[in-house]
Amino acid sequence: MEENYDVIIIGSGAGGGTMAHELASTGKKILIIDRGDFLKREKENWEPSSVFKDERYHTEEHWYDKDDRPFRPGMCYHVGGNTKVYGAALLRLREKDFEEVKHYGGISPAWPLSYSDMKPYYLRAEQLYSVHGQRGEDPFEPEESEPYSFPAISHEPFVLNIVDRLTQEGLHPFHLPLGLRLNEKDMEKSECIRCDTCDGFPCLVHAKSDSHTTCITPALAQPNVTIMTNARANRLITDESGRVITAVEVEHEGQLKKLSGKHVIVSCGAINSAVLFLRSSSEAHPSGFANSSGAVGRNYMCHQNSVMISVSKTPNPTIYPKTMGLNDFYYNADDSELPLGHVQLLGKVKKEMLEADAPSITPGLALNFIAEHCVGWWLTSEDLPMTENRVALNERGDIVLDYTTNNEEAHQRLLKKLEHILNCVEHTHFFPNHAYLAKRLPIAAVAHQVGTLRFGKDPKTSVLDINCKAHDLDNLYVVDASFFPSSGAVNPALTIIANSIRVADHLKKEVL
Ligand SMILES: Cc1cc2nc3c(=O)[nH]c(=O)nc-3n(C[C@H](O)[C@H](O)[C@H](O)COP(=O)(O)OP(=O)(O)OC[C@H]3O[C@@H](n4cnc5c(N)ncnc54)[C@H](O)[C@@H]3O)c2cc1C
Ligand code: SF4
Repeated sequence: MEENYDVIIIGSGAGGGTMAHELASTGKKILIIDRGDFLKREKENWEPSSVFKDERYHTEEHWYDKDDRPFRPGMCYHVGGNTKVYGAALLRLREKDFEEVKHYGGISPAWPLSYSDMKPYYLRAEQLYSVHGQRGEDPFEPEESEPYSFPAISHEPFVLNIVDRLTQEGLHPFHLPLGLRLNEKDMEKSECIRCDTCDGFPCLVHAKSDSHTTCITPALAQPNVTIMTNARANRLITDESGRVITAVEVEHEGQLKKLSGKHVIVSCGAINSAVLFLRSSSEAHPSGFANSSGAVGRNYMCHQNSVMISVSKTPNPTIYPKTMGLNDFYYNADDSELPLGHVQLLGKVKKEMLEADAPSITPGLALNFIAEHCVGWWLTSEDLPMTENRVALNERGDIVLDYTTNNEEAHQRLLKKLEHILNCVEHTHFFPNHAYLAKRLPIAAVAHQVGTLRFGKDPKTSVLDINCKAHDLDNLYVVDASFFPSSGAVNPALTIIANSIRVADHLKKEVL
């Protein structure tokens, strides 16, 4: 058994990295474990073909779908987790997302806490991750009297034209809240250079507010915090009662090691945390680790997401287009009483990204033209929690993602709305049926994974309690995306970060 820690945090992404940052000042002896290494700074960070065609930063693992077909998940294992490559669009869930909401596909359940409970933590999360935004533009944004600490990132002229036309149509485009360390007033002093390789890329100059640069680096500056990289947690081991974790079994440098900590905080991402629980079943936990509810691994959600590429008559010279969001259809629409979802612009669409998806017969010239004239759109509708949508292990011990889409009607209606939007902005060459121009994301697109270890008041239906402590254990907390009881329809990271700050406050006040 290796050294005794006060706290072991497994996973250094949005949830785990934020937790390490918040606990660092306690002086407690904290160990962060991550299965990945620090992501190497190298030219390939900003090389579209390395990132998108060669998938240089994605795991090479293969998982299986419900029909036992293998796929390579689009996610990375590095210090900072998936925030290393995220688009840094950092939005709050809306008030109603915390309540029960009827959708085309069924019911989105209420959370055990309300928006007002989360509100102060959202503000701290935005401050910590240097979110730039402008309150008051999105009429559907949740209530907040404090302004953003940093001004909204400006629209470039081509995007501004889209914003103006949509505004003329009576819509309410808003500046997308973004976590970049950009100083547009004084670019000499700006860490961010506003480049065209951000969304989906690691930041070569460390100016993106990812969990590595924002949280892990300052946490490691404290003498009481250390990190063990390339260390994969395989199992959580308990005492005989099954209520207390006595060791974390870790594979590190080809060896199995047992590490002990008074408190263990799991934050491996929604899928891998569920896998860790599933692999930790024991005599004391015969029906699966911390699984008296039977909910471990279940209610996996990943949003109904589509990427759309529209093509304009005129070239689009925008360098950083990811500055606009639209929530007019979030709660309902003129022809729909039920929610449809959220729309935002994607980062710069590069020819190499189109190539990664285009049929091989598509001529390079056509791709060049499209890349020079196109705009990328990201559409998200809510994915509803279904017990049958789950993370499991097969008889070989491989990870299985047993997932069937739901709430399809909302997403189809949202796609129709985008068609209308594109007519407004006169993007005439729009081919909605073309494979690489309108793409519903496949099962490997696990970027927005949430659910799997939901929190709740009732131990019969939830894995975690309201403080994200496992109901069945005394010293186990979970702070990644797995606690979500419903997915909402905005990007999840800010909610993960805010929740991690909330749980850290609880630990500091009541536990440590
Ligand atoms: C390309 C892309 C773009 C995205 N853009 C956005 C965006 O614009 N806005 C937004 O809100 N969200 C975005 N997301 C999603 C966002 O990155 C995730 O929601 C967020 O990072 C999840 O945080 P987490 O803490 O749950 O897990 P992660 O950030 O995935 O962190 C999990 C960590 O655990 C480690 N780990 C896993 N298993 C083990 C193990 N067994 N032992 C030890 N360590 C382990 C991993 O290496 C990783 O470091 C994007 C994601 C991707 C992939
Ligand atoms: S836009 Fe800024 S934060 Fe994003 S990759 Fe470029 S320099 Fe980094």
